[in-house]
Amino acid sequence: MSSLTPMMQQYRALKDQHPNAILLFRLGDFFEAFDDDAAVVARELQLTLTSRPVAKGRRIPMCGIPHHALPTYLRRLIDRGHRVAICDQVEDPKHTRTLVRREVVRVVTPGTVIEDDLLTPRENNFLAAVLWGGPSARRDEEAGGADGWGMAWADLSTGEFFATEGGTAVQLADTLALWHPREVLVPDDPQTMAIAVEGMTATPYGAQRFDPEGAARILREHLGVATLDAFGLVGAPLATGAAGALILYLRETQRGTLPHLRSLRLIPRASTLILDEATQRALALWSSPRDGRGGDTLLDVLDRSETPMGGRLLRRWLQHPLLDLAALEDRLNAVEAFVENAPAREALRARLRTVGDIERLAGRLAHEAGTPRDLAVLRNALEALPSIPPLVDGVADAGIRGFLPALAVPPTLGEQLRRSLVDTPPLSPREGGLIRPGVDPEIDRLRAGSREAREWMAALEAAERARTGIRSLKVGYNQVMGYYIEVSKANERLVPPDFIRKGTLVGAERYITAEMKDREALILTAQERIAAREYEVFCALRDAVRAHLGPLQSAARALAELDVLAALAEVAVRHRYVRPGLTAEGGLRIVEGRHPAVERAIGPERFVPNDLSLGGDRAVLIVTGPNFGGKSTYIRQAAIIVIMAQIGSYVPARKAEIGLVDRIFTRVGATDDLTAGRSTFLNEMIDVARILTQATARSLVILDEVGRGTSTYDGMSLAWAVVEDLHDRVGARTLFATHYHELTELASQLARVANVQVLIKEAGQDIVFLHRVADGAAASSYGIHVARLAGVPEPVIHRAREVLAGLSFSAEMMDGDVGALSGGW
Ligand code: ADP
Repeated sequence: MSSLTPMMQQYRALKDQHPNAILLFRLGDFFEAFDDDAAVVARELQLTLTSRPVAKGRRIPMCGIPHHALPTYLRRLIDRGHRVAICDQVEDPKHTRTLVRREVVRVVTPGTVIEDDLLTPRENNFLAAVLWGGPSARRDEEAGGADGWGMAWADLSTGEFFATEGGTAVQLADTLALWHPREVLVPDDPQTMAIAVEGMTATPYGAQRFDPEGAARILREHLGVATLDAFGLVGAPLATGAAGALILYLRETQRGTLPHLRSLRLIPRASTLILDEATQRALALWSSPRDGRGGDTLLDVLDRSETPMGGRLLRRWLQHPLLDLAALEDRLNAVEAFVENAPAREALRARLRTVGDIERLAGRLAHEAGTPRDLAVLRNALEALPSIPPLVDGVADAGIRGFLPALAVPPTLGEQLRRSLVDTPPLSPREGGLIRPGVDPEIDRLRAGSREAREWMAALEAAERARTGIRSLKVGYNQVMGYYIEVSKANERLVPPDFIRKGTLVGAERYITAEMKDREALILTAQERIAAREYEVFCALRDAVRAHLGPLQSAARALAELDVLAALAEVAVRHRYVRPGLTAEGGLRIVEGRHPAVERAIGPERFVPNDLSLGGDRAVLIVTGPNFGGKSTYIRQAAIIVIMAQIGSYVPARKAEIGLVDRIFTRVGATDDLTAGRSTFLNEMIDVARILTQATARSLVILDEVGRGTSTYDGMSLAWAVVEDLHDRVGARTLFATHYHELTELASQLARVANVQVLIKEAGQDIVFLHRVADGAAASSYGIHVARLAGVPEPVIHRAREVLAGLSFSAEMMDGDVGALSGGW
């Protein structure tokens, strides 16, 4: 160690304090990473790996990022889940002869970023902490409630803070998948199960910090309360432990306090419709399926919100559809009121467009990270707020009007900002030019003094020429010498005695006077002093924002709600959606339902609407028909319509009666999911097992070609048994699209199974897809027809028909139980 260069010793000491982060070390114009960090940085950012001598005869890998490009590269590192410690010079290299002092000024982790350029506007950025209750809970799908897990999560950029508890590992995986934190703190004890969820960074954190008792103390202190009763945390030790650990971690990684994480909401178990990860993807709710089909997600179709806050709230609604009939009717009433009052809706939306992200602005400013520009955006938003209530006053809905009082942020803050801040302030708070004249006497005095001195300097040349009679006399300025009077050698004898010689050039002499010196000092120091004073005023404004944090956060949340409700109304009008009728029990009855994303992709005039009747004696529908006939679209649209109804949205149909659903499971057969790159059939069966253990009589199960990932009879038999179990034991409403026509036989064996088919029209030897769904079973797979349409040569098609006829015949002979296989073509 001692043989290391002094700078490398400094590096080592800092790196030892941050072993789990990539340390970026400021060296001149670069941030350098060394050793293993360098290799990671070079790989992730595709930068060149170089090396640097650290001791005699020894070099270590090094990789540098230009300091001005730090934000861009930082974002990429954070996006890939890395933690980054930024080590900067904390003294000016000009002012020291020895090694420059360096300190880690910030640890940036995926879950704690607050900078605008590191965040996605319409997505929350959650940091979570997870605590397991007892050894028996681990990996045990059936574990009861006593052990289980607790989870807390917070968005540092918005100030939202939640906690919940659950029982099984599956429930934890579902909860993580829905809230999708960017970073998850887990106790660093060796027993803790690895929580690996795609796209999340797991950060091991001291296990003792999750201790529920210590955590309760920390939380009481943080929230400023004597008891945690009001937050519902009494009797929830695991959620408490997780929440306490989260606060401790934030205190350690963030400078300053955490004033905006002021409320903690305990989310009760099972209060929302659960959408597991496979379902989210298969239905393309907010991310596209893995099969790369791409296309619009449901969120893309629905998100017509005008503010980032509204965008985040709509995403949250979609991730957590409701089970509460009354709450849903409230939302639907509000949407209907906006549907019916187009002028109010349009006026509100136009105004919201000017508001910006009040929630994150306030969070950032309270967190001592905001810029003067943030203050200006906030000022403009505060100016827009009072004009919003009159716009929606005429809307006939108590729910909507209920949001209006929250918009009344005390006017003092807006006035203070308007009075103090220039129209378009600079980004940096430290370089001056942001405070209006007349706000602060000190700034005014300094500015006036500086202005006078400059004017005096500007007039000096003429005055001295007149006084001395030297017509070529010049007043100038340069960085080395400062202000000077220049007189040519020829005129030296005319120089008055009060000129002090400052320097000699080839043909001239330079002078200064005592008066000039005073003015020069004024001009040169004024700039710095004005900037320093302006910074103080800026900090006072930021404190004022912090003092109004509560009302600002309430206003932001009310705006988000209004924004989402108006956006859903806008989508409903634009795409001709209708208000669904909701019931607590019962089935689904949809008249002329459509798939919102497919309809938008192919155009509403080309989309064929279809009816659906599911429930009662039609608890399970077997959907058959040719490939590309529209089976997947039909069964997915049913699930999507239910989800839309359960967030309080209108739905794409002519009429819809929705019996509320507690869970939706959507599974797509293995061959449809090839890019997942796993043992797909095994995976498919894990999913099926999960459905059979988790689904209830109130669930909706969507199965698309499940059983296809293995040989025909094998897969078909499994599919058969799965449908039987769903029908006999689970009682869930089920839509099963399959090309196993044999399964249509189930309808005649089980009381509540019915067949529907997608229709085609035969035109000679060709077929036309009608995309229309009707009762009954399809006759054959039509695979050969599709092959023919695709241009497979006629002799092959002909031969395929012969083979099919032979196969069907022998299958019929072999296995009468499964039902007659349909004849060939
Ligand atoms: P399957 O599951 O039967 O193979 P898909 O549901 O994937 O069929 O549909 C195949 C294609 O047919 C889709 O990409 C879509 O463009 C089109 N399609 C499906 N349903 C409809 C419909 N109701 N109206 C119009 N086109 C449809």
